[in-house]
Amino acid sequence: MSCVGIERSFGGLRALKGVDIEVRRGEIFGLVGPNGSGKTTMVNVMTGFYPPNKGRVHLWDEDITGMPPAAIARLGVARTFQNLALFKGLSVLDNILLGRHVHMRPSALASLFYWVWAEREEIANRRIVEEIIDFMQLQDIRDEPVETIPIGLQKRVELARALVAEPKLLILDEPMAGMNQEEKEYIARFILDAREERGVTILLIEHHMDVVTAICDRITVLSYGEVIAEGEPRTAIAQPRVIEAYLGQ
Ligand code: ADP
Repeated sequence: MSCVGIERSFGGLRALKGVDIEVRRGEIFGLVGPNGSGKTTMVNVMTGFYPPNKGRVHLWDEDITGMPPAAIARLGVARTFQNLALFKGLSVLDNILLGRHVHMRPSALASLFYWVWAEREEIANRRIVEEIIDFMQLQDIRDEPVETIPIGLQKRVELARALVAEPKLLILDEPMAGMNQEEKEYIARFILDAREERGVTILLIEHHMDVVTAICDRITVLSYGEVIAEGEPRTAIAQPRVIEAYLGQ
């Protein structure tokens, strides 16, 4: 994913003032910065929720600037939100299955052969869902209503739902917020395994600098809608502008 010269305003507020970000294939990339620096707005631009006022977004070779979120999702970009976005009343399994919806698009031709298509789809969906349930160790609670399981496991369900879409790029917006130490470690492990075992490129928004320095290959630091540092995490966060931006919080 490469973003060049991204600008985005809300009324008179310039939330992004010409941001360049490049996430390379296979990377664990960190997007950091104090509250209100523009991280979530940037992710909303990347995923099509907000079209930029200026600048271009490319997903590898394809220009996706201004595309709607569903089209970008179909190209292989999945996302989790800061607050859990699960469907209460549905089981863990059904919540995870919902992540497959990006692949369920009956074209005119597919409708013609709908039943053959549906059956094949069903088999493919079940295979990947079973695989991810194993990968995330959710076998024992698959039939539980999602709202009855502990919050840490709910987060795991959300990650599983993102992963069954078989994304090329997975964007995680503060996945460790509100998690205890054990759950944070699980999520860090998950990120590393998702890259190693499933070849997923990760863009991580994260406040915990220890996590960022431990697992990210490169980072970009935003402050007031501008890039103030980028590169290898330890070097980037040690720069005076970054320390200043965080002290000013
Ligand atoms: P971060 O994710 O780094 O905390 P945000 O991207 O959420 O920062 O916000 C950047 C700035 O844009 C903030 O000043 C915020 O108030 C503003 N902002 C974000 N989204 C909206 C919106 N939908 N309407 C108005 N202002 C917004």
